[in-house]
Amino acid sequence: MQLLDGKSTSKAIKEELSQAVEQRKKDGKKIPHLVAVLVGNDGGSLTYVGSKVKTCQKIGFESTLIHKEDTISEKELLDLVNELNNDENVDGFIVQLPLPKHIDEKKVTLAIDPKKDVDGFHPMNLGNMVLDLPGFLPATPAGMLELFKRYEIETSGKHCVVIGRSHIVGAPMSIMMGRNSYPGNSTVTLTHSRTKNLKEIVLQADIIISAIGKPGFLTADMVKEGAVVMDVGITRIEDETKKKGYRISGDVDFENVAPKCSYITPVPGGVGPMTIVSLMMNTLKAMELNGK
Ligand code: NAD
Repeated sequence: MQLLDGKSTSKAIKEELSQAVEQRKKDGKKIPHLVAVLVGNDGGSLTYVGSKVKTCQKIGFESTLIHKEDTISEKELLDLVNELNNDENVDGFIVQLPLPKHIDEKKVTLAIDPKKDVDGFHPMNLGNMVLDLPGFLPATPAGMLELFKRYEIETSGKHCVVIGRSHIVGAPMSIMMGRNSYPGNSTVTLTHSRTKNLKEIVLQADIIISAIGKPGFLTADMVKEGAVVMDVGITRIEDETKKKGYRISGDVDFENVAPKCSYITPVPGGVGPMTIVSLMMNTLKAMELNGK
């Protein structure tokens, strides 16, 4: 069994990105500027946005955090999105989800200029992904593709079972794994909460991507010997023995599943850090796509 180490892989990518920034400076080009918009004080969102901003600083990107109260109206948020769309100094931006209930997330996603949509959630970018046209790939699936590449894992002709069909992870990942490119060319089965005989289906998988958010859901009896397992799940579990009062758990019963796998991602330290560097890679790509 080999660990798919997102921590060290993302570190290597961060170094490459720092070098790209240095090169841009030497060439007199603009430094990438990523803006993160955070609404409210959701614990998870604060952590995610915090690490995104910190990563920007580490690799030399310019970054701005815009933190708004959760009382902000939908109109005010849409006006802010419009301002960022028109700000020449901003190369890419994200609006951290989830948003408060009184704001329609779809409206906000649609309002973002696809050319600055480095999260890759806009329908234009999702459409580009399906049609193999240039655009931004959603960060978490793109991070997983990068892991396949960096570890040179064969995906062609393999049966890939994706568990979970969210618009940001499961659904796009299922499309990306079926595309006629590497990583891809897999035969994909997309499963979800209504799937019947899930265990039998997952047992046939050469590659399992689990993105549901249920700790310990994927057990050893569901996994074929030699399978590749990527665990996207991030769930906070109360734990008094930890300084923060909680620990992070993935969807996979790691201890019992890992010995059966050829490759597996740990949680934490697997897919999570790759998501953040994908966002950075998208921001750099934004400059190139926009001719800067
Ligand atoms: P979600 O929470 O929007 O939806 C969950 C999905 O799981 C649904 O499609 C549902 O059909 C499916 N599901 C639920 N119970 C199931 C069952 N018993 N069998 C089969 N399918 C079932 O999905 P999401 O936003 O993709 O989040 C999933 C998990 O991934 C969460 O823990 C989230 O925190 C985590 N996540 C991690 C990253 C990362 O960077 N590592 C990024 C995004 C999300």
